[in-house]
Amino acid sequence: MHDDNLEWQQTTLQMVINIDPDVSEIESNWDEIVDNFNNMDLKPELLHGIYTYGFKRPSAIQQHAIVPIIKGHDVIAQTQSGTGKTAAFSISILQKLNCLSRCTQALILAPTRERAQQIQKVVVALGNYMNVDCHACVGGTNVREDMAKLREGSHVVVGTPGRVCDMIKRRTLKTDNIEIFCLDQANEMLSRDFKDQIYEVFQLLPQGTQVILLSATMSTEVLKVTEKFMRGPVQILVKRDKLTLEGIKQFYIAVEKEEWKLDTLRDLYQTITITQAIIFCNTRQKADWLMEQMDLGEFTVSAMHGDMDQEQREVLMREFHSGSLRVLITTDLLAHDIDVQQVSLVINYDLPTNRENYIHCIGRGGQFGRKGVAINFVATDDVRMLMDIQQFYNTQIDEMPLNVA
Ligand code: ADP
Repeated sequence: MHDDNLEWQQTTLQMVINIDPDVSEIESNWDEIVDNFNNMDLKPELLHGIYTYGFKRPSAIQQHAIVPIIKGHDVIAQTQSGTGKTAAFSISILQKLNCLSRCTQALILAPTRERAQQIQKVVVALGNYMNVDCHACVGGTNVREDMAKLREGSHVVVGTPGRVCDMIKRRTLKTDNIEIFCLDQANEMLSRDFKDQIYEVFQLLPQGTQVILLSATMSTEVLKVTEKFMRGPVQILVKRDKLTLEGIKQFYIAVEKEEWKLDTLRDLYQTITITQAIIFCNTRQKADWLMEQMDLGEFTVSAMHGDMDQEQREVLMREFHSGSLRVLITTDLLAHDIDVQQVSLVINYDLPTNRENYIHCIGRGGQFGRKGVAINFVATDDVRMLMDIQQFYNTQIDEMPLNVA
């Protein structure tokens, strides 16, 4: 098994490195694909919940992952966000539950409270006709209430590592009947301070607990966990979906001169209430310069580029994903690294130097990727490039209306 694992680690690393963002493909050591919820042998009341929730057909990851999880295999799913992972493991867990018993049978760990609560809602909604009890066991809530709730019994517990670990040690959360353990956003969790707590939870689970691991990337830390705690896992890698400009409103602002871009950006800040934005520049120097200029104002801004080491960049990405960093300025060379899926506003302070990069800056993938707005600053010299981009992608980029807010 260890040799197998090692071999797989190597191929996985290879796959991670070779990911081609423009190819939508699945790689797996599990061949069976079920492309219809009806053919998954699900309980009728679960099926009812799925359809009532509005799902018609399983997404790619669901077609590959649900059946092996139900059959009891350890599963590693590596896909970007928005592909239907949460629903995939929620459906599988619900199928495996025995709702006649009140014991906790499934435990899910997530990196943040918000994420844990979000998962809880999905489990409850999909299990709406199953009489299922799912408790969110997260930090920042009243410990006593949490304990009382756990004592009553919950079929599924979804929580953050600290609180869950605490509850297990107090013997309030009983692990004896846990059959399935799911680690959501494993790369995110293992890169934080949660590592020790996660290892601890693993040790406290019954021998033979089924492990499901979801991760956007397979870092060394994640691979270590799979090697230590998983047995002959089914691996499913959904390569990035083809990026698309569909659902993205694209605008340009004719700024005429390079010198006027900065004021234009400042104006934009005043007219649009921005939640979070990524700004692309063409050079590292400009990214740094722009950050300094913006820092003079009241904005929280950071620049990220290839001069920084991986660790620095990861810190910034984490801040950005957590929402504490509002504006990220970066170079288009790094566009491939950044998950722009979650960002609703992208500003191309400079048009990308080649049209192929345009889609990497603003395009979205994921079967259920979010929609967004892209604003391109266009100096007189860039007009030709703008036309070229429109033609190349057969897309329309409108002049930004004044009343865009
Ligand atoms: P992930 O965990 O990969 O980020 P989610 O499971 O949260 O993805 O799904 C992303 C979005 O797509 C959610 O809004 C979810 O309700 C929706 N979704 C998931 N699976 C399906 C499906 N089979 N059909 C339609 N919508 C789906």
